[in-house]
Amino acid sequence: MKRDAYEVLGVGRDASQEDIKRSFRRVARELHPDVNRHDPEAEEKFKEAGEAYEILSDAERRSAYDRYGHEGVRARAGGASAQGFGSFSDIFEAFFGGEGDPFGRGGRAGPAQGPDAAVAVEISLDQAATGEAVEVEYERVSVCGRCRGNGAEPGTPIEQCPRCEGTGQLQTLARTAFGQVMHSRACDACGGDGRLARDPCTQCSGVGREAAIETLSVDVPAGIADEQRIRVTGGGHAGDRGGPAGDLYVLVRVPPDPRFVRDGNDLISVVDVAAPDAALGARATVPTLDGDEDVEVAPGTQPGDVLTLRGRGMPSLRRGRRGDQRVVVNVVVPRNLSSRQRELLRELADSLEEDNVRDPHAGDESLFARVKRALR
Ligand SMILES: [Zn+2]
Ligand SMILES: [Zn+2]
Repeated sequence: MKRDAYEVLGVGRDASQEDIKRSFRRVARELHPDVNRHDPEAEEKFKEAGEAYEILSDAERRSAYDRYGHEGVRARAGGASAQGFGSFSDIFEAFFGGEGDPFGRGGRAGPAQGPDAAVAVEISLDQAATGEAVEVEYERVSVCGRCRGNGAEPGTPIEQCPRCEGTGQLQTLARTAFGQVMHSRACDACGGDGRLARDPCTQCSGVGREAAIETLSVDVPAGIADEQRIRVTGGGHAGDRGGPAGDLYVLVRVPPDPRFVRDGNDLISVVDVAAPDAALGARATVPTLDGDEDVEVAPGTQPGDVLTLRGRGMPSLRRGRRGDQRVVVNVVVPRNLSSRQRELLRELADSLEEDNVRDPHAGDESLFARVKRALR
């Protein structure tokens, strides 16, 4: 049984976002695994607090949780998940800065770069062919506008951190096969700064950062393929103590197009040609990225023959040169014949000779031989 999220953070059901943020900070600091090495349950409790915060800090998730409990939140999580915070460690990094996995050991010195953010965007194949500026909306942790990131209520002092006594470092002894080893890591109360606000900023609860919905226009280059990523330098979460922002990764999704199958920069499509037209030669209309195109079907065209439309494929990402469109001919044999049509076909069949059915390009190789070779 999962514990109640409000209980985990020690807040009432009517708690404000501000209360929730403050309580999470307190609980997370108390339960941080680095502080509680003697408590084997600390890591579990720490993760539990993170999950509770993920639920209660998001208005939509919170209301789903209020109505349906943990089940409701799980059901919602099935949808878009690449948005904003990807995981608890993202949240932790965003609030407490730059140490990556909170369960990892050792930190970085100096102002750390902020975590990367990710967002997914869906475009059509036509948009992928021409390239396009698309708007993306994502949750981003940025520097708090009230305290400008130092975490102190404007006009109040920043004092020496009581936890590390201003050194910014915490020492821990670890027992190893080679004896005791002293580990030093950034203080988790002040983030290695050695200084802490006496009166935490009322807007960000002293974190120095705040989450906001960001809208950004991203240039999608022509020729992009499904599942490719675009990196927007500096579009990620704000850095720790004035460190540079992380990057934003835009995952581009290009769903299958009903007209084409993509093969690298080539496009493949199928055109239906009636059997008499294939035999006599005709013109057929083929949809391309540039609109419908009239193509010549040569007399004697066979099922599976490929007509190549040069330069009608997708542009190459690097050079911009377009691939080809390969049109596979599907010869449609007439159905539901009238007696007159049957008579004509029978007459035609009787008139056929060896030269009418032999493929001059295939040499002696039959279709069956070719299929066998393809399957080998
Ligand atoms: Zn602030
Ligand atoms: Zn400290």
